[in-house]
Amino acid sequence: MPSKVFRYSMLSGQFVFATAILLMAIGCRQSKPIPAEIVGDSMAPLLCGEHLSQCCPQCDCAFVWRTGRDIKTVQCSNCGSKFAPQGKTLPADRVQVTPGQVPQRWDIIAFEHNGSTMIKRVVGLPGETVSIAGGNIIIDENVAVKPNTIATQTQHLVFDSQQRVPANQIDPANPIAQARYEFDADHWESEKRTLLHRPRETSDQSFDWINYRHQRNYPHFNKAADEAAPIDWPAIQDNNSYNQNVGRKLNDVHELAIQLDLKVQHGSTFKIDRTRPQGPYFLTLRVDKSSPQYKIELCNGQSVAAASGTLKTAGEGPFEMSLLFSNIDGRAKVAIDGEVLVDERDQFEGRAIPLDVSGTKLKFGFSDTSWGSVTRCRIWRDIHYFAQAGPPKFELPLTLGQGEYFVLGDNVAVSRDSRHFGPIKKLIGVVQP
Ligand SMILES: [Zn+2]
Repeated sequence: MPSKVFRYSMLSGQFVFATAILLMAIGCRQSKPIPAEIVGDSMAPLLCGEHLSQCCPQCDCAFVWRTGRDIKTVQCSNCGSKFAPQGKTLPADRVQVTPGQVPQRWDIIAFEHNGSTMIKRVVGLPGETVSIAGGNIIIDENVAVKPNTIATQTQHLVFDSQQRVPANQIDPANPIAQARYEFDADHWESEKRTLLHRPRETSDQSFDWINYRHQRNYPHFNKAADEAAPIDWPAIQDNNSYNQNVGRKLNDVHELAIQLDLKVQHGSTFKIDRTRPQGPYFLTLRVDKSSPQYKIELCNGQSVAAASGTLKTAGEGPFEMSLLFSNIDGRAKVAIDGEVLVDERDQFEGRAIPLDVSGTKLKFGFSDTSWGSVTRCRIWRDIHYFAQAGPPKFELPLTLGQGEYFVLGDNVAVSRDSRHFGPIKKLIGVVQP
């Protein structure tokens, strides 16, 4: 471990190691793949050095924890529980590095820096001007959009309704609510972890909502302050990094993917509302009253993106469907049962960038006359890049010269990368996916 990296970790008081790699063979001039072993956790959870694989005894959340010191406790990023690590240390991940390959954006590359061999993800290419804003990479003033495979690879699960709620976090005043759900118990019921909506006898054309409250389970969420002065509908917050450092500062997180496993009936109407200070923004799913058809509408108050489809099961219902709605890198995507129905990038807001979801909140619900249920809710957040990550800070925006690449670690808060040491020039090769 380079002394500089170690010194940084000690100064910052955090469990920080830059991800490096140990090349298993010398001779980078050859073009055949070189095996390499990961050191450290700045590319976690995708690529980890020696690590512990843990399952929280309180909530069943699975996560990895880095080793390298005498670890006495680990902490669940989902519920905040601390416990003694279980199981043996697992070996470091291994990768293959291909020399001579020209990297594309989002490729993971191996390079040399100050005598160390490191791996990070390429976000800026030669000739481009790179900056970071709102959690995103900005290239020449446009948000760099991750392809679906990379977005999936780098997003973090931040809520899964199938995980147990620790007993001490269930609100006795509202025991049927999941800790992160707030809803009107008159119209919603909970059976195990399924949320059931029963239609009302009289309709006033309204919706029965469930507000999603993020972060209630984090130890640094100030529950007392929240109860003393409850915020009607708080912004969604999360920490910047993967879960090795759950105690870090929270920031507003707007770019989310929400997947809801639903049961619906003929005539059911379901909405996901992500209304922002800038105006309304919601997704409506309407199931036809008699035919096996459904319609999707994505509306921002000015324009509408619409699509339709056929229920995968016939008959009288209830019908099962899995609805995905994501807002990542200024791109709005809606999919049902894995089929993408809406994928709007530039046109939706009538401007190039971004589909601004800042200040966004999240609620979902059925119309008052609908029968329906939510059998599972999962929420992922996009990787949240930020410019400041400890001294020495490298000023952004930065224009890259010929042969220069801007690289970042996926575990943004613990990674030492181009934000600190600037562009990299000594490329070794591209890590094979
Ligand atoms: Zn837990």
